[in-house]
Amino acid sequence: MSNLPFTLPNCDQPAAVRIEVYSPANGPQRGSLDASVYACNQHSADAETAIQAAQLTTHRVPLAPDVNRQCGHVHVFPTGRLANTDHPAWCDRQNCAGRLEHRSPALPANPTGGELVDVRVALVQLTAAPTVTLIEIGLTDTPGDTDARVFPLGQAVALAYRVLELNDVAKGRQR
Ligand SMILES: [Zn+2]
Ligand SMILES: [Zn+2]
Repeated sequence: MSNLPFTLPNCDQPAAVRIEVYSPANGPQRGSLDASVYACNQHSADAETAIQAAQLTTHRVPLAPDVNRQCGHVHVFPTGRLANTDHPAWCDRQNCAGRLEHRSPALPANPTGGELVDVRVALVQLTAAPTVTLIEIGLTDTPGDTDARVFPLGQAVALAYRVLELNDVAKGRQR
């Protein structure tokens, strides 16, 4: 697994601990158990530091006595977020190859639930341009008829700040 986001000590000693690797909750995504990393006593702290530097959390557990693993061995859980790094961490992984884009679950912006226009925002990345993250704003006033527009993430953030400014103006607050 050379495409893991952390590098482990290179060592051939028998492992003494197992380190569970979790990705934290990320917006709409819940945290998940992504991998088990095995380390000897000498390298367990280094391994944890390397994993934590990749924004992952660790939980050290004693190694079961019947388990023989070499220090530096990694087991990646196929259900976890490290299993397939072809997707960004926030992607919902619903047929990205077919729809030609990665998408996050859409977050509703409908505080009362009774709005005339249903507004949802989601992260989108074209599979052909995996370095550019976009925000899609979807507006639905008739069910099944969504008007979706995509903006660069920076522009969407600027929009959010402008809305907050206008909210302050509307409320008569000083910034
Ligand atoms: Zn070691
Ligand atoms: Zn994807």
